[in-house]
Amino acid sequence: MAEKILVVEDEQSIRTIVEYALRDAGFEVVSAARGDDALTMVDDGGIDLVVLDIMLPGVDGLEVCKRVRADHTMPIIMLSARSEELDKVLGLELGADDYVTKPFSPRELVSRVKANLRRAGLEPERGAPITAGALEIDAAARTVHRDGEEVPLTYSEFEILHKLASSPRRVFTREELMNHLWKGPFFGDLRSVDVHVRHLRQKIEEEPSEPVLIRTVRGVGYSFGGEDSAG
Ligand code: CA
Repeated sequence: MAEKILVVEDEQSIRTIVEYALRDAGFEVVSAARGDDALTMVDDGGIDLVVLDIMLPGVDGLEVCKRVRADHTMPIIMLSARSEELDKVLGLELGADDYVTKPFSPRELVSRVKANLRRAGLEPERGAPITAGALEIDAAARTVHRDGEEVPLTYSEFEILHKLASSPRRVFTREELMNHLWKGPFFGDLRSVDVHVRHLRQKIEEEPSEPVLIRTVRGVGYSFGGEDSAG
């Protein structure tokens, strides 16, 4: 059965292009031009992923994202027109899984949709090793190899790397990473995340001063791969 994608966008030309591209890729597509309509459709059920524009009549995309995330776990991909909007998306920690900056190619969007659905389907497992370039992370064996050579990591370094790499491009806050590490709320100094990340980069990055695997997202936290939003 085809996965069902909800496209929320008030600009009809963009909505049509996105709908067409997703249908062409084999998805079932429904759409909404208003935020409040989108919320109703999500609550009616059956939606596997939401593509969500930010500037919307009714309820804006940021608010839609927040409300959807309060009750649902399906992936949400935000569409943003400007980098200031993107900063807002990341800064507000709304729970979006991914983002695409306008103008985007339909093919790029389709590949993000597929990647997010795959990730959502795989997330509960700790099974298959994750590979990214020269890096292979094996959660079952708790090992990391770089160009075939084992990289010794501490418990915390491994947990942070694995958490980030399990959801490529997703931005994690320092707090999220520490809560993961401590298997519950963490009340200590969040800057210890920065220390773990610095050590990790020295071990896994080609050029630790110019990291490409673990990105810093200014004012928010870290992501595994993704666009250069702060360096
Ligand atoms: Ca819009």
